[in-house]
Amino acid sequence: MEIIREIPLMRSYSERYLHKGRRVGLVPTMGSLHQGHLSLFDELRKGGCDVLGASIFVNPIQFGAGEDYDKYPRAESTDFTLLEEIGCDFVFCPVADDLFPRGFQSYIDVQELSKHLCGKYRAGHFRGVATIVMKLFTIVRPTAAAFGLKDYQQALIINQMVRDLNIDVELRFGQTIREDDGLAMSSRNRYLSSSDRMAATSIPQSLEWARQYCKDRIRSSMEIIDGVRRILKQFGEITIQYVEVVDPETLEPVEEVSERALLAIAVYIGKTRLIDNAIIGTDRKDELFGM
Ligand code: AMP
Repeated sequence: MEIIREIPLMRSYSERYLHKGRRVGLVPTMGSLHQGHLSLFDELRKGGCDVLGASIFVNPIQFGAGEDYDKYPRAESTDFTLLEEIGCDFVFCPVADDLFPRGFQSYIDVQELSKHLCGKYRAGHFRGVATIVMKLFTIVRPTAAAFGLKDYQQALIINQMVRDLNIDVELRFGQTIREDDGLAMSSRNRYLSSSDRMAATSIPQSLEWARQYCKDRIRSSMEIIDGVRRILKQFGEITIQYVEVVDPETLEPVEEVSERALLAIAVYIGKTRLIDNAIIGTDRKDELFGM
């Protein structure tokens, strides 16, 4: 596996393959890799990519003041081993000063979708995400890129950016990969103590409750939100940031759930912020954004 840290080298690596008509696939990550990240390579393979790569970059411009940028887990050598094992061809690990040199001032802002859910609590976060993804696209020039639905709002925002700016990258989306007890895999799970970890299982439990609750009847969002909050509140460790029921395409709140809605949750367990989501309703198709 080629480890590439410099922007010009990354460009020439990709160009070499693209010239030959090969399909280059990219999984953008912040590292501390787990099965959730690795599953996205299957999505790229399904999309016919034959040169597979990841980027590992803890992106400073998507963290707000007081968030965990400095403490975000970094595990480069283990990450490289995992990537090698699954047959990754290259990993791009750029240096922050190369991507954001002094004087940097151009950002991508996906305006409406960024206002909802996490956007209300993390000012500038999605602007930081959209900007780094755009930069990775222009440097790596992937044929296809894969993103996880665990970060549903992020996936929707990138999908919108690609559409709005006519970006020539095929997007692939992977389902949320979970631990045996249902907790969504996340690099931040390693911050959790064992009692935190137990409390965290109430997140998937509450999603599953809502899924069942909405399976064969129209339900009011208020009832769903109350039920989810009740399950989460069984554990004193959990502080709820939001529980919302929204339209899965616009992220606007909905009053009732008939066919399909997105239930999205953000909580703090101690200082660790966790998010999760599920499609609920009577018609819970797995496909996203009509793709
Ligand atoms: P991150 O390193 O957290 O920025 O995540 C990199 C990519 O992996 C994003 O597209 C995430 O949505 C995706 N991802 C993270 N956790 C999971 C998971 N448990 N299941 C599926 N995809 C995930």
